[in-house]
Parts: sequence; C-alpha cells; structure tokens
Amino acid sequence: MSEIRVLREKCTGCGLCITSCPFQCISLVEDKAVISEECRLCGICVDVCPEKAIEVEEVERTGDVSGYSGVLVFGEQRRGVISPVVYELVGKGRELADKLGERLECVVLGENMKTQAEDLAEYGVDRIYLFDSPLLADFRDDPYTQLLTALVKEVQPSIFLIGATSIGRSLAPRLAIRLQTGLTADCTGLDIDAERNLLQTRPAFGGNVMATILCTNHRPQMATVRYKVMTRAEKQPGQMGEIVLKNVGDAVMDRTRILSVSTESEDVSLTEAQIIVSGGKGLGSPEGFSLIQELADALGGVVGASRLVVDEGWIPFRHQVGLSGKTVRPRLYIACGISGAVQHLAGMQTSDVIVAINKDPLAPIFKIADYSIVGDLYEVIPEIIRAVKEENSI
Ligand SMILES: Cc1cc2nc3c(=O)[nH]c(=O)nc-3n(C[C@H](O)[C@H](O)[C@H](O)COP(=O)(O)OP(=O)(O)OC[C@H]3O[C@@H](n4cnc5c(N)ncnc54)[C@H](O)[C@@H]3O)c2cc1C
Repeated sequence: MSEIRVLREKCTGCGLCITSCPFQCISLVEDKAVISEECRLCGICVDVCPEKAIEVEEVERTGDVSGYSGVLVFGEQRRGVISPVVYELVGKGRELADKLGERLECVVLGENMKTQAEDLAEYGVDRIYLFDSPLLADFRDDPYTQLLTALVKEVQPSIFLIGATSIGRSLAPRLAIRLQTGLTADCTGLDIDAERNLLQTRPAFGGNVMATILCTNHRPQMATVRYKVMTRAEKQPGQMGEIVLKNVGDAVMDRTRILSVSTESEDVSLTEAQIIVSGGKGLGSPEGFSLIQELADALGGVVGASRLVVDEGWIPFRHQVGLSGKTVRPRLYIACGISGAVQHLAGMQTSDVIVAINKDPLAPIFKIADYSIVGDLYEVIPEIIRAVKEENSI
C-alpha cells in the first residue's frame, strides 16, 4: 500500500504542486502544502516539487479490521430506476448479514430517487443512504467515487457489494484503490467462513477452475457480482428500512460533463428473456441462425449464441452467452449444436430448464441438460417448430 506525505521542513510553499495536481487535492495551510484524502497517488506533485518535499512511500498495513461491520450494497440506478441487479445483491446481502448477525444497508445516488429508495427499503434492507442531487442523475466516475469513498469511511461496512455492470465495473476498482482494499470482480458465489470472512468465488483461468478468494487484512471486502447469478430478494411489505438523506455538498469535483445520453437500440434482451434458443458451431454456417430464430419466434423467445459463432462473425456479440458474454437465467434454455464448454455453462447453467440438441451423445452439455436430444439439429428443430405451431393453433 502507498502513502503520500509532505516533508514540512523542506516545503517552501511555492505552490507548484497545487497548480500541477490534476485532482485539486493540494492546498496551502500556513504556507505548507497539505494533501487531502482525495489524492489518487498519481505522483505528479512528487515530480514537480523542486525541493523534493513530497514523498510516496510503501507502507505495510497492520491488518486491523476491527470496527467494520455490516453489508453495504451499491443501489445502482439508470435513468432514475434502481437496476435489477441491486435486488439480487440485496437478496444475497441479507443472507450474508444474517449469517454475521449484522446490518444490511444500501446506498443510492441519483436525482429524485426518494420513491425508488422507499420501494427498495421494503426488500429486507435495514437502512438506505440516499444522495439526491441533479449532479448525480447519471453515473459519473468522479462524484460517485468521492461520495461513496466518504460514505464507506464513515459507515465502515465489512462487506461492500456492487453489480458487475458497466457502471459497477468502472466504479468498483476506483473505490477499492481509494479505500485501499481488495476487490474480487465477477463473483458467482459469496459466503461467510468460520472466521467471519467473506468467501468470494469466481471463475478463474478462463473458467477452468473456480477460485475462492479471501480478503482478510483489509476492509471492506469488496466484490462485484454479475446480474442473474444471485436470487432476487422478496418484497416484504410493511417492513420498511430507514432512509437516511445524505448531504451531497458543494465540494464534489467532476471532470466530465454529460452533453447527451443515447441508448443503443437492442433487439435482444438476453438477460431479461424467459426463453432463449442458442446456436453454436454445430449450425455449420451463419445461415443456420434463421432456423434458431424461427424456433425462438415460435416459442416467444430470443436468440443466444456461443462464443465461437460470435468470434466467427455469424451473429453479433450482444447475443453471446457465457463467461465473456452475458449471464442468463431464463425459464427455458435450448442449446442447439453447442458442445457445453465450461465457459458457456458459466453463463447459462442456472436456467430453470435446459434442453440440449447435439448429435454427439457424449457432448458435455448433456451433463447439465434436463432434456437431452441426441440428433442432427437440422432434423430435430423443424420437428419442434412444427409441434409448437400445431400446439399454438389448437
Ligand atoms: C477466457 C474464455 C472465455 C470464453 N467465453 C465464452 C463465452 O462467454 N461463451 C461461450 O460460449 N464460449 C466461451 N469460450 C469458448 C469456449 O471454450 C468454447 O470454445 C465455445 O463455447 C464452443 O462453442 P460451441 O459449443 O458453439 O462449439 P464447439 O465446441 O465446436 O461445439 C459444437 C457442437 O455442435 C455439435 N454439432 C455439430 N453439428 C451438429 C448438428 N448438425 N446437430 C447437432 N449438433 C451438432 C458438435 O457435436 C459439438 O458438440 C471462452 C473461452 C475462453 C478461453
């Protein structure tokens, strides 16, 4: 861990460090430079100081984790609506907090978020910290990082959970650096061990092993968790957690300005779909996806894909299911011509019902399939489409 300090006896108060700091973290107090807690340790001030009065030093952390307690969940929102992953984090967070006998808290940043926060408070959360300001309407790294860092230092949670969304993936590492703690990204399992540490499990080495990671000497224990991996919390009407309004303050620094927000049109929402029909290399050619689309249409589902066919350019990336694609949890997942590599299974194995169509009876996908159809997909799928259409016409 690094620490920065000013050698007061050497500092002449020339102010060069102040003008060079890109984060406005240095001020003069009694003609000496003082570096605030907002410092990102970029080291520019160290280089510009003519008197060599600023030093960055490696220091050992003592590992004192006492004083930290409870589980904090980042209540991510987009366009004023709490993201669905938050309800899953709250479900898991409640379970962890109960095992520890501690509190479950959430933090929400946004504009006009009171109603949403009140709704979230009915999902078994003990307390919600709400930062409400036009400045926070859309996610921006600077203000979100500053406010969350300050809140974590104040509240001192033992565990801090964040969704592994594009926002969470930008925010979590910044927070971990500021808080000088560890971060396990993309967790698929969380539990508490006998020493009350958080067991953070995630795929490693390209999904070939599951690694369980501990953060014993630093707090909070931070983890990002993918959407559709944990079970969503249940609403508990009448049991509303406390809402604590937090002051945003004037000092929040922001180096970016949002000019406009445009949403990419998405014809497929894999993560929300209840029925997914996925195609793999067994299709033989990109044209095979018209058959997959036909089956998906007949069932009222959407089309997914393995990575190999995405890499081949047969179908866009947004359809990819798996470790480096999307994690899905539909009621029905039909894998057509997909072998069942661990990286694919990592994204779909928690689906309620899995049907696999593969001409190789030894294909690994059959090990996790609820219904296994051994055969040529070009013979099997038309039969299924015909049967579904017949059923629909009755
Ligand atoms: C770091 C890393 C991340 C990865 N991330 C992902 C990911 O997110 N998602 C993902 O899917 N993969 C991912 N992969 C790739 C993964 O390892 C596999 O290579 C990939 O899933 C295989 O795709 P597939 O099943 O379509 O092709 P194959 O493994 O080639 O399987 C094709 C299957 O089709 C069957 N078949 C052939 N013809 C027919 C037919 N006519 N009828 C019926 N069955 C037929 C074959 O028997 C075979 O089982 C990742 C790999 C790495 C290293």
